Amino acid sequence: MTAFVVAGHDGEDTLPVSVVTPSQTHSINVRVAKPNLWDYPDTDALISFDTSLLIGVRTADCVPIILHAPDIGAVAAIHAGWRGSLYGIADRTVEQLCVRGADPTLMTAVFGPSICWRCYEVSEQLAADFDRVGFAHCLHTAPNIDPLTHSTPDPSRPHLDLEAVNRTRLLSLGLQPANIIASSLCTRHTITDGGMTMPSYRRDGTEQRLVTCVALTGD
Ligand SMILES: [Zn+2]
Repeated sequence: MTAFVVAGHDGEDTLPVSVVTPSQTHSINVRVAKPNLWDYPDTDALISFDTSLLIGVRTADCVPIILHAPDIGAVAAIHAGWRGSLYGIADRTVEQLCVRGADPTLMTAVFGPSICWRCYEVSEQLAADFDRVGFAHCLHTAPNIDPLTHSTPDPSRPHLDLEAVNRTRLLSLGLQPANIIASSLCTRHTITDGGMTMPSYRRDGTEQRLVTCVALTGD
């Protein structure tokens, strides 16, 4: 089994087939997607063993993570905002794959576009929460220049690297560094050569979402 990953904007006709997405609530709940079942309430990660399914998550600054466990023929799509990153939605998903026989050293992870740490100012309380559970290395002091507005942020405010939190979690679970692939795109500040931007809640409070999805392909 192999897998492919695609992305498109929510609400636009850019995706090849219907995508199964859960009703995300910033939980750490993981469910296995089934054919002809479209309702996954209070769920922030889906697992699929079925080549007929295209599963995905909707994000607008949060971290979308795709997993492929080739040894058991499974893929997963994870929505990791700050709550999911703090409480371990990625861990729960890897654990669910491992209890079904997957070897984490064989897994591939793909991080889709999310908000970069230079763009992600957080409260002192939230920074303290991440510090307390071992993610001090993912906290930064303010950058000199905001990459979107080119203004000078308040240097006293902490900034959080959500992708680094999730990378740290995956590595601690046994994934290999070479098997973790990350987008270099920031949903808040990246403007492509063609002038395109991605949905960013922090930038403009949008209700549009980036859909990052994955499907198994047969042998
Ligand atoms: Zn950014």
